[in-house]
Amino acid sequence: MAKIVVPMPALHPAEFLRALLDASPNAIIAVDGEGTVQLWNRAAEAMLGWSESEIRGRPLPLDVQLPKPSSGETEIRIARKDGVSIDADLRATPWSDAQGNRRGTLLILADATDQHRIQRELVELTHQEQKARSEARLERRFRELLEAAPDAILEVDREGRIVLLNRVAEKMFGYSREELLGGTVELLIPEHLRARHADYRIQYWHSPATRPMGIGLALQGKRKDGSQFPVEISLSPVDSEEGLRVTAIIRDISERTQAEDRLRAIREEYTHELEERNRLIERANRLKSEFLASMSHELRTPLHTIIGFSELLTEELEGVLDERQKRFFGHIQKDSQHLLELINDLLDLSKIEAGKLQLRREVFDARAAVEEVLTSIRPLVQAKSQSITAAVDDLPALEADRTRFKQILLNLLSNAVKFTPDGGSITIEGALLDEAVEFSVSDTGVGIPKEEQELVFDKFYQVGQTSKGVREGTGLGLAITRHLVAEHGGKLSVASQVGRGSRFSFTIPLSAFKAGKV
Ligand code: ADP
Repeated sequence: MAKIVVPMPALHPAEFLRALLDASPNAIIAVDGEGTVQLWNRAAEAMLGWSESEIRGRPLPLDVQLPKPSSGETEIRIARKDGVSIDADLRATPWSDAQGNRRGTLLILADATDQHRIQRELVELTHQEQKARSEARLERRFRELLEAAPDAILEVDREGRIVLLNRVAEKMFGYSREELLGGTVELLIPEHLRARHADYRIQYWHSPATRPMGIGLALQGKRKDGSQFPVEISLSPVDSEEGLRVTAIIRDISERTQAEDRLRAIREEYTHELEERNRLIERANRLKSEFLASMSHELRTPLHTIIGFSELLTEELEGVLDERQKRFFGHIQKDSQHLLELINDLLDLSKIEAGKLQLRREVFDARAAVEEVLTSIRPLVQAKSQSITAAVDDLPALEADRTRFKQILLNLLSNAVKFTPDGGSITIEGALLDEAVEFSVSDTGVGIPKEEQELVFDKFYQVGQTSKGVREGTGLGLAITRHLVAEHGGKLSVASQVGRGSRFSFTIPLSAFKAGKV
């Protein structure tokens, strides 16, 4: 069988290369060292609009920075001959001749317009999706917050229509979401208040401002079943995409109001009871003081008789007494004196407590008054071999109740004598302060423990340890003394050290009386 040979058409290498170049879907351009176009294939003509004949031997018409041959593919945007911009991927490779001499650069351009658009759209889509996702997340978070709030929350538009609400609002007012959405907010307000509320609402839009809870009116809410309940409302304007709206947070304060009412009732009842009790106490106090005053008076009269007659008998004008009888009379006198002191103290205290103590003010010389007190105390001081000194010179005239002033001093001095062992010393001092004269009575006696120094001014209080063996007091002296000092507008205080002695000081204001402070 004869072999059939199909002759291959002869192809010149340059033609073959050209055919290859023109078959490429990419634009292939060769530029020499000066940037002049040497080669421009068909795809370049189609992509960029210039024909090879038009461009060959001319500078590259593209406004591109030629990339370094090694830098691979770069995305570029270039203008075609007709001015339309296209996206392309550009790759540059060196162009050398057969001897290896560098001739220029070979540019390969792949049209990437669609690809870039698709990429851009993809990126855009991804952005949008992310945005939508985060918006959905925000919306969810907002919903969660809305529903987690313990109060009813409503959002109302300019016309008063409800545009948003939470479940608490549904429950609080007894309506479903569907019933409320789009309805006016006045639905939730008792009829007789609706017109007024609509006015308030319109006014609010004129000057929308945040109004916190608890400020403004106590309002009433109305449930679907018609029942009403007290509410507290806070308002805040919200500038939303749909225009200005107002968010209302509504709190049902029925329980709080009930609790407040209950509390008020209890308080009133309690106050009433307290007033009643105070009245009773006052009355009892008054009766006690009156009783004490009259009793003291009634007791003093027979006591004076007892004291007077026993003194008469001890003078032995009515007959001689033997030693035993004298001792008995001594007991009668001592205890009668004690009883008289107690009665006098009680009378004073009842007068003070009943507010019936009247000071008789006069201007007098303190020195003379102190001297008189010293005279009456001296026998007691001498009986205990104590020494007493007074430094009250250079004092201004006092304006006080002279008798009461002497009583104050006598009380302090007799305590000093009483609670100072034999041979001790007692001092009276007077000093001029800014607006008062301060008197002090110091002793070298038993002293008073710190924790009892305030208690000694209480009625009937006697220091257990220090006054051991000295029981003839009444425990009323310092209580009365402090009252008397206070009545003069002054202060009585004590400084003391156990075993070393005590110092009682009191002030008599200089101008208190004149200034009307007393
Ligand atoms: P009494 O009639 O007992 O003296 P007071 O009210 O005058 O009553 O005093 C109360 C108590 O204060 C006294 O019993 C005594 O314990 C204590 N006290 C008063 N003055 C002194 C003093 N100068 N030194 C020590 N203790 C004193």
